[in-house]
Amino acid sequence: MIYSKSFDRCIKELSKLPGIGKKTALRLSMQLLKMNQKDVEDIANAIIDLKKNTKFCIRCGAMAEGEVCPICTDNNRDKQIICVVEEAKDVFLIEVSGKYNGVYHVLGGRLAPLDGINPDDLRIKELLERIREDQVKEVILATNPDVEGDTTAIFLKKLISKNFDIKVTRIATGVPIGGYLEYTDEITILKSLENRREML
Ligand SMILES: [Zn+2]
Repeated sequence: MIYSKSFDRCIKELSKLPGIGKKTALRLSMQLLKMNQKDVEDIANAIIDLKKNTKFCIRCGAMAEGEVCPICTDNNRDKQIICVVEEAKDVFLIEVSGKYNGVYHVLGGRLAPLDGINPDDLRIKELLERIREDQVKEVILATNPDVEGDTTAIFLKKLISKNFDIKVTRIATGVPIGGYLEYTDEITILKSLENRREML
């Protein structure tokens, strides 16, 4: 419609990404057009490879190249401590701090009844199975410190305590109120893990 069909198509495709409006898509397309062929192909191939090779671990739900992620197969990790997070990217954020030695469990979201997200939509059954199978001693609830994240944590605490006699902790909100894990630096994440408190 503007100059070329291909240019138009590139704008249309890039606009499908969250946070990329028409204007940004236009600027990025222009930038890609100015770059050399190899760099553009590297970007395109990285995206295709990402989709082709990255799966989600069948145990914890974190990103993996095979069926099971490197954290779940690492014998040095303590399988009896599970840190529960909302999304696979949260695992990466906690891993950056380099101090956590337990394993993870990705819920795949958080409870949001108004948006139609109920317990059955999250990987809660799988969490309970892991607690039983691995004789887990502590579950750290690291859902985001906001209303929905807190609601999810309280729900899980009740459910876990109903079925198991184990320690359930909640990360400390050293992060600003309403702050999300992804906007928090690694020192704050580390502190909020270290200062976790037992939920009673
Ligand atoms: Zn895993």
